[in-house]
Amino acid sequence: MAFINKSDLNKFKKKAGDLFNKTIDQHVNLAVTGLSRSGKTAFISSFVNQLITEGGNSQLDFFNPVHQRRFIAAKRVSQKHLHIGRFEYEKSVAAFEKSPPTWPEPTHGISELRLAIRYQPQDSLLKYATDSATLFVDITDYPGEWLLDLPLLNQTYEQWSKQTLALLEQAPRFEHAKQFIEKVNQIDPLVSADENMLASLAQEYTELLMYFRHQLGLSVIQPGRFILPGELVDAPILQFIPFTNFNCIDGNSYQNAGDGTFIGMLRARFIEYKERVVKKFYKEHFLHFDRQIVLADCLTPLNNGAECFDDLQLAINLIMESFSYGQSSLFSRIFSPKIDKLLFAATKADHVTPEQHSNMVSLLNQLAYQTKHKLNYDQIEMKTLAISSVKATLSGKGKHQGQEIPVIQGRQLHDNKLITLFPGAVPKRLPTKEYWDKNGFNYINFSPIESIEAHQSLPHLRMDQVLQFLLGDKLK
Ligand code: GDP
Repeated sequence: MAFINKSDLNKFKKKAGDLFNKTIDQHVNLAVTGLSRSGKTAFISSFVNQLITEGGNSQLDFFNPVHQRRFIAAKRVSQKHLHIGRFEYEKSVAAFEKSPPTWPEPTHGISELRLAIRYQPQDSLLKYATDSATLFVDITDYPGEWLLDLPLLNQTYEQWSKQTLALLEQAPRFEHAKQFIEKVNQIDPLVSADENMLASLAQEYTELLMYFRHQLGLSVIQPGRFILPGELVDAPILQFIPFTNFNCIDGNSYQNAGDGTFIGMLRARFIEYKERVVKKFYKEHFLHFDRQIVLADCLTPLNNGAECFDDLQLAINLIMESFSYGQSSLFSRIFSPKIDKLLFAATKADHVTPEQHSNMVSLLNQLAYQTKHKLNYDQIEMKTLAISSVKATLSGKGKHQGQEIPVIQGRQLHDNKLITLFPGAVPKRLPTKEYWDKNGFNYINFSPIESIEAHQSLPHLRMDQVLQFLLGDKLK
């Protein structure tokens, strides 16, 4: 019988460990998206902060590696793609460390960050080979608006223009879009194209989209790159508009219109946009994601009223098209995606009292219901959570007309005044007319609650469940 002494065993373990580390999957590509202002920057800052500080003073009870004391450390290391912007984690955390703390500046395009997480393996094969292992996590942050463009791939320029016109002619868009539509309707589509005129019309259309998003709080913004152009600012590929007067041109003239005509140039740029912008994003980035988190702020549209809420529902349906892998789906026909876990998170849950959180989850489930239904048939694990990346309120009980009611307390963003309120009830199901008539929802923007010290963790709601769902199985 052969005996093996301890030092030989350790050498063997190290050798086997090195081998396993090279061969076993110890890497995950995690993508974070959501429409602008949905909370991506706050989310990634908190996600990284919780890992780097090991949950420190906050609690990560549902994140097994920490709970089971197998988590050793996490740190930021050089990112994989040097041509992609760096997620400004240090700058974001510095905003929370200021006194008084502020929210970090949001990101506007795609950015990346790589973490190395060191842990003690427990269940996996690695346990027999090594005492500690490393998981590399590549986090990519990109605007949800870019996913709103996927359906364009299945549309001709004419179809897209007609669909966009139908949207522009509805409230609340019409009042603001009327002048633009009238202007475009006066243009003869078969005249020679004037690039300067196209640039200025595209600028006008972009300003309309910005107004829809930021003033009216609408969510369906197409083409998505127009309001978040990333590196394509001022590029002619973003200088086209929907043509709003297809009735004035017969099919033959449209088909035969050369690229030098007004309508021909619009069509050519639309096609180019689909190939070089939309498809390129899916091929270069989306196809390499292993896991995805989609952040949705349902509370702001709930506050803004029925039209905004309906628009959010339409946007979520468009966004979820990218995760619908059914054989016949547009996406699977064009690409072969590999995302195996999808987390759908209702953000800013600290804006409502805790007993409303389950309603936030069921509302978000309803919003994504059709797609979720489709996803159930496919190989994608899906979860919905109500979270707060950075908790900015305290919850407790207050008195109203002699009755005890749940309340939240926080500092208003605009004047830093401390207020206590019951912000309203979140409906469990898609809101009906009755809800809009009766219920008001009082959405207040809050400042971060108090500054953190260096190496302290940010207060949160359910970030441990997020970590467990997205990384738990990779850290076994
Ligand atoms: P992005 O555009 O998707 O990157 O959104 P941000 O992360 O910049 O968030 C937009 C704003 O939403 C922030 O400036 C905060 O005012 C608010 N916010 C984001 N996350 C939270 C949260 O967890 N709680 C609260 N109360 N507000 C949040």
